Amino acid sequence: MTDALLSDALMLHIRKLAGEIGPRPAGHPAEMRARQYIRQVLSALDYDEVETLPFLTPDTWGYALGNPLALTLVSNLLGTRSRVGRLLGGAMALASAYTLWRSTCVDKQPLAALSPRRQSATLIARVPPAEEPRRTLVLLAHTDSNKHRPSFSPQLKKYLLGLTTAGLASIASNGVAQIIEGLSGSQGARKFRRASLWAVVASLLIALYDETGPYVPGASDNASAVACVLGLAAQLRQQPLRHTEVWLAFTGAEEAGCLGAHALLDAYGDRLRDAWFLDLEMVGTTEIAYVTRHTGFSLLSAYRPDAESLAWVERVSHQHPEMGVRGRDMVIGEEVGALRVRGYRGVCLSGFGTDGWLENWHQTSDNVENLVPAGLEKATRFAWAMLQDLDK
Ligand SMILES: [Zn+2]
Repeated sequence: MTDALLSDALMLHIRKLAGEIGPRPAGHPAEMRARQYIRQVLSALDYDEVETLPFLTPDTWGYALGNPLALTLVSNLLGTRSRVGRLLGGAMALASAYTLWRSTCVDKQPLAALSPRRQSATLIARVPPAEEPRRTLVLLAHTDSNKHRPSFSPQLKKYLLGLTTAGLASIASNGVAQIIEGLSGSQGARKFRRASLWAVVASLLIALYDETGPYVPGASDNASAVACVLGLAAQLRQQPLRHTEVWLAFTGAEEAGCLGAHALLDAYGDRLRDAWFLDLEMVGTTEIAYVTRHTGFSLLSAYRPDAESLAWVERVSHQHPEMGVRGRDMVIGEEVGALRVRGYRGVCLSGFGTDGWLENWHQTSDNVENLVPAGLEKATRFAWAMLQDLDK
């Protein structure tokens, strides 16, 4: 029996996905080539039934930010002549604030119709247990990669949540000011509306500037997770679980707002109601953790794993103190957000750097050279230990 979890085997996938195929924007041909590669690997492992769940997606989360900000600018033009227009404008701005708040993995891009959309897909392979199935475990790894973003640079990332929250607040306060102005005609409300409008313009300019970078190779984010799940797929072929059916879900368009995870739940939400979900994110670093609290992308969008999943991962952490995988609160937004908001279980295994943040997050430095093979192997072995524990 060969050891499918060795870093040498896992690194082959990283070099193929992040090196040869390269940046994989949601809905672009490179993301599709990543799926073709995953199919090839699975087929070589005799996984003959790989299902494709197609869906449409924007290719960047920039629309999720930019559309509500742009709509808020438009809403201020509605009320130039009448109070009714001001009230309508206020309602439109508040609705925009709501959609912005909901667009980071919570909903499937509420204003998606205002964005150009492309074809993406989630791939699913199922690994039956050796004996009668008693539970289902879904492993999640996204295939797409994000852009190089100035707001995620080592100097600016500490302001990230503050910036997005300020953008959200500027839209909401502009909406409230429009409504007060419409109702009372007050000069104070008018002044406040204009000030908040400048904040909306500034937020939009920052959001647009943040879109100007190239897409990144995504060696850690998230070729590392795909490699990890492909390694587990190989290991499961040699050593199937006894009572746990494992779904390997390679999701598309996570970086555009977790659309691939939503597509999975749309198609199989009923069957997966009691399933366990393990999401892998950026596990190509020396240090690996399970996330105990996720900030999401603003100060108003935090979420946590469910208590049962947390107990599961804590148990495995105690069983394997030598791996040093511990719980951490982290600045991160990922597919557990989509799971939790829809009432599913979910826990995330993630890597982090010496400063405690996700390493090379949305930077061009997220490349094959900077990936840590030993960390990737550790994450994969820890995930394997989690599978073993759940199957007991
Ligand atoms: Zn990611």
